[in-house]
Amino acid sequence: MFLDPAADACAAELGEHIHASWDDEAALTELGKRADIVTFDFENVPQASASLIESLCPVYPPPRALFTSQDRLREKSLMQELEIPVAPFLAVSSRPDLLQAIEQLGLPCVLKTRRFGYDGKGQVVLRFEEDLERGWQQLGDQDLICEGFVPFDIECSIIAARGRDGRCVFWPLTLNFHRDGILAISTAPVFNVEMQARAEVLIQRLLDHLDYTGVMALELFVKDGELLANEFAPRVHNSGHWTIDGARTSQFENHLRAICGLPLGNTQNSAQALMFNLLGQMPEAADRSGVSALPQHDLHWHDYQKTARAGRKIGHVTVTANSNTGLRAKATQLAGDLGVAAEVDLAAMLKSIDKILQ
Ligand code: AMP
Repeated sequence: MFLDPAADACAAELGEHIHASWDDEAALTELGKRADIVTFDFENVPQASASLIESLCPVYPPPRALFTSQDRLREKSLMQELEIPVAPFLAVSSRPDLLQAIEQLGLPCVLKTRRFGYDGKGQVVLRFEEDLERGWQQLGDQDLICEGFVPFDIECSIIAARGRDGRCVFWPLTLNFHRDGILAISTAPVFNVEMQARAEVLIQRLLDHLDYTGVMALELFVKDGELLANEFAPRVHNSGHWTIDGARTSQFENHLRAICGLPLGNTQNSAQALMFNLLGQMPEAADRSGVSALPQHDLHWHDYQKTARAGRKIGHVTVTANSNTGLRAKATQLAGDLGVAAEVDLAAMLKSIDKILQ
């Protein structure tokens, strides 16, 4: 049974759809009374709604994870408390606060809304003194956070699942490439044992502190081999979609295993994988069948059956291979055929991967 305010909820095909808003108390109560366990895959579910359901049946991940992740100031403060390295940050709720933040953090810095930011929305990079006015005009009517700009070499994420018994499993680190603030490409595994171990330690601190059950993703910047956390997502994550086709157990399966109290599956790669997000609209069937000479078993199409809209994530395609060279060749061919090569500089991306693997 699914609660979703969208009339055309994708999940409605799979079970009963309670069509109601996130704060509809009668609908939340019905869900809590009829379900054995409730989970969510959307991070803006109001914490109060998750807590209402939790008074009627178990909710995993715990609503306090939502409480923390829904506010960047709370999230960054918790990370600091847990000694997870983050960029320096300051709360901003007035123009003098912003001036002080800029003075303290220096330029460039990143001004972000504390709540409801995603895919690069609700944030402005301030590079010059003149940008202050633009940033304030754009975002100044909300509570804000100002962060030091991290001139990262590359971005990555660590995805983990924690069972009800507290046991954790971790997928191999995933490298992520954004375009206009939206995830464009993810690839795994990253063959860097030290970085993997470090990332696992960092996410485990959050998982244990929150007494978490389910899948969590932690987004990280890599700078000179050091990891700095950006944010965590209390849900299955876009950068883990490759696990459906490239890992022995996907993030989706392990999330369900975790919340149901079942043993967690093996998270190792079954192949090397690279995922392209499909934005706006799915390639036409004709374009798809024409996609290169790649063997079909190396190509995995996922169509979310969502209404096409500019910039919307409506599907993804994952390419798999048994070797790094094979993966690069196939990804380059696919990027050309799908026309994403112009949008994402795959060659530059592969170069930055080499840099961190040195
Ligand atoms: P966020 O909404 O915090 O996930 O940010 C979206 C993207 O903006 C990140 O994936 C980075 O590419 C970039 N970004 C966010 N914060 C910073 C920062 N402090 N320094 C540099 N880039 C950032």
